[in-house]
Amino acid sequence: MSDKNRRIIAFLLLMVLTVLLFPCKGYAQDIKSAPFQIDFIDVGQGDAALVKCDGHYMLIDGGSASKSSLIYSYLKARSIRYIDVIIATHEHEDHVGGLPGALNYANVGAAFCSVTDSDSKAFRNSKKYLAAQGKSIYVPKAGDSFYLGSALVTILAPVVAGTGPNNNSIVLKIAYGGVSFLFAGDAEWEEENSIAGYGELLRSTVLKVGHHGGGSSTGYQFLKAVAPRYAVISVGAGNSYGHPDENTLSRLRDAGTQVLRTDLQGDIVCTTDGNNITFNVQRNANINTLANAGPGQNQNKSYLVPFGNSAQNNQASVPDRSVSDTRDNQVTR
Ligand SMILES: [Zn+2]
Repeated sequence: MSDKNRRIIAFLLLMVLTVLLFPCKGYAQDIKSAPFQIDFIDVGQGDAALVKCDGHYMLIDGGSASKSSLIYSYLKARSIRYIDVIIATHEHEDHVGGLPGALNYANVGAAFCSVTDSDSKAFRNSKKYLAAQGKSIYVPKAGDSFYLGSALVTILAPVVAGTGPNNNSIVLKIAYGGVSFLFAGDAEWEEENSIAGYGELLRSTVLKVGHHGGGSSTGYQFLKAVAPRYAVISVGAGNSYGHPDENTLSRLRDAGTQVLRTDLQGDIVCTTDGNNITFNVQRNANINTLANAGPGQNQNKSYLVPFGNSAQNNQASVPDRSVSDTRDNQVTR
């Protein structure tokens, strides 16, 4: 065989290998391999979640002012210099106080909050950093939606003016393939009840529990509608509010929801391919997160029979818990 023929055969082999290793796929097929991740950052008593999809970022709340430098460092360590959307679910300090840390490191595309003004120092400070980037606050309406990469973000609430900032929290749902996340802000029963009419739309794989697991949030009816397989409670250890409330924990237990908590487990990182879902935690992967759950209101669970059955049927597109993986720090059931 001549050198020329060898070169031609080598070239053809290379082409075949290239096609085998890098098959052409349409965007729809690529969605499952596209990276989607949510970091529930341990900010003590407060909320902060960093959502990543296809290289785009959304920060939902930023913890309290004392965590501003933590948020700055978190982004810096990951070289995240651009955040497509920042959402402050409401104006309370434990949600907006740390946002200056993010705005100090990263540029932001858009900023949402349930209000444009508040007389708290934390809110004014965040607004000042936004203004320095030439941005103002947009108050989204229920029904607004946008894409973060290939993930669909839908604003669910507020649908009516609620009582106080908590019940005016921005509540949103993120859908990525067959997996979905519902972020309840600090919504309490009043706001939960106001969106009960959404019905099936509330159903989500993961619930970011409202108001740090407080007792006046995460009611049975709401839980029944959301039917979350997993719940994340962002809460500070030994906080003065008694969060999470033992009754909320017992309701989650009754619903058969696996609970993860930042006070016990530190940073909680959730990844999904749109099908399987995996949680990695900083510490205490196998701790009993419901150890201080109260006796519950539905110990016979009769109330939850239809809920449990329909949840199984409707979440069939979410295959079984890949969290049974045995890596260190991975949550196992
Ligand atoms: Zn809060």
